[in-house]
Amino acid sequence: MGGAVAGRGSRLPPPGGEFSVDCRLCPRLAAHLDVVRRDHPAYHARPVAAFGDPRPGLLIVGLAPGMHGANRTGRPFTGDHAGILLYDTLHRYGFGSQAVAVAPDDGLELRGCRITNAVKCLPPENKPLPAEIRTCNGYLRAELQALAPPAVLALGTVAHKAVLRALDCRIADFPFAHGASHRPRPDLRLFDSYHCSRYNTQTRRLTPEMFRGIFADIRNYLDGAGR
Ligand code: SF4
Repeated sequence: MGGAVAGRGSRLPPPGGEFSVDCRLCPRLAAHLDVVRRDHPAYHARPVAAFGDPRPGLLIVGLAPGMHGANRTGRPFTGDHAGILLYDTLHRYGFGSQAVAVAPDDGLELRGCRITNAVKCLPPENKPLPAEIRTCNGYLRAELQALAPPAVLALGTVAHKAVLRALDCRIADFPFAHGASHRPRPDLRLFDSYHCSRYNTQTRRLTPEMFRGIFADIRNYLDGAGR
């Protein structure tokens, strides 16, 4: 896949940020996925495309595909523990047609909501490198420009910073805090939540009640904005 050279040997997605599941701009992640695909031939094991409404009021930004979730099924937050709370909550607040997500052909539709990730390839140990976050930010930037969602939910600090970077905002001006919301642009409200990962939910750093509180705020905001 072609891309503009961006100094220090790194490359960026093409102008316009057309996403491809064949993207290999991050050599470490591409090599990692080659190994995962060899060890798990039935897994998607490629960059994972966004999922949901093509004209969303809410864009949810996660960290990266999980090994046995999106990396396996090819759909964000589908088939692993992190998706359990997310899709149940989306359904409760009218964003999803059903409460469970197990596979891309499970019939689930998102309404007024779309889900993407700051980094679209599975990173080793769930830890993308700063250069990989920067490289993949070209796709997030293009998504935000094309979709122009009035609300964005960042799941965790990596997603929060990636959204701000994609909007060309100074990260220090908008510190991450669970339950906070920011106005980085006049037409966009950024909501923050702890990530709904297995670790965070099992340690109760993030409870279902806390997570629902975020979505209640988002639903109120969107309804007030006439969406
Ligand atoms: S993380 Fe993003 S930019 Fe890097 S290889 Fe995957 S899709 Fe391409």
